[in-house]
Amino acid sequence: MIGQPIYIVGPCAAESREQVLETARELAAISCQPSEVSSQHSVPFIFRAGAWKPRTSPHTFQGVGEEALTWLAEAKMLYGMDVATEVATPEHVRKAIAAGMDYLWIGARTSANPMAVENLTPALSSREGGKIKGILIKNPVNEDAKLWIGNIERLEKTGIPVMAVHRGCGHQPCWRMAHQVRLARPDIPMLLDPSHMSGDAAKVPELMQMIPQLGLDGAMVEVHCHPAEALSDAKQQITPEELADRLRLTEHRPAPPDRVQTDLPNRENTELNWLRAEIDELDDKLWDTIAARMDVSRRIGEWKKANGVAPLQPERYEMIRERLKNLTPTHSSGEGELRTEFKLALWELIHEESLRQQE
Ligand code: PEP
Ligand code: MN
Repeated sequence: MIGQPIYIVGPCAAESREQVLETARELAAISCQPSEVSSQHSVPFIFRAGAWKPRTSPHTFQGVGEEALTWLAEAKMLYGMDVATEVATPEHVRKAIAAGMDYLWIGARTSANPMAVENLTPALSSREGGKIKGILIKNPVNEDAKLWIGNIERLEKTGIPVMAVHRGCGHQPCWRMAHQVRLARPDIPMLLDPSHMSGDAAKVPELMQMIPQLGLDGAMVEVHCHPAEALSDAKQQITPEELADRLRLTEHRPAPPDRVQTDLPNRENTELNWLRAEIDELDDKLWDTIAARMDVSRRIGEWKKANGVAPLQPERYEMIRERLKNLTPTHSSGEGELRTEFKLALWELIHEESLRQQE
């Protein structure tokens, strides 16, 4: 962690003046409250809400646009929190600055396009741009650590402090990408966005435990007073009360013992936790792949039964074993060499289970 923790909280989208002010009022009430045991969270929240929403489908809520900025400005005036909104075009940047936004964030879809990010820099570098306290760059929608680092560099030219927001890819954490960026740019604060990372309010509290474990600098969390009624990202938003509970727990609860070796010095400890996050995610994918394979096995079993074919075909069995001997799994770090004995033994286990599934 680089400095004080940073929490950027608020609804996915500004939906109405009432919704913005109600959420801001409830968040302001828990912002800045020192806890009983530490003053760790006695830092003010930054209030977020999207005015323009870059959505996947054109048939969903696209945000109310410029008018939302006036509601954010009102929330800032009434409740004293700095305010943040998403920008995707130079026009958004100019309007957001004129409306008094303190922080701007660039979303994952914009971050996927280096020219779109570059196009924002003149407006950010302008004299007015100097009023912005920080610019947050989310990771691109697809796993691309180099592009994320490139975007950090593009934005650094503006002179505005840059922060990275790790929101994962789709609803996968992609810890490897974030780890690469953390190692390349340890000087840039990195926040976790557990809301978009999971797409599931129930998973947000668990993901927030990763903030202290990975030495991250805070979080951007989607918070809505009535999540079920939200016009966008309804499933992933938590209430202000749930956020307050989570922050209390994050402060008090030591990290689970299976993930952290407390006898190691802090920095190495964090590095080990990053590597464990990467390996846990790979294990999850491995099990998903095995489960998907069993589904196909069952369908093959049904086909064989319907067509009077025996479950085990010796020539097919031998063919797969031969293929496996020559197979070199490709993965990006290029050291995917696996021993033949290991490949055959593991496949044998999977194959046995497949046959059992076909019975
Ligand atoms: C958001 O923060 O509301 C948002 C649209 O996020 P992302 O760009 O990460 O999908
Ligand atoms: Mn959202």
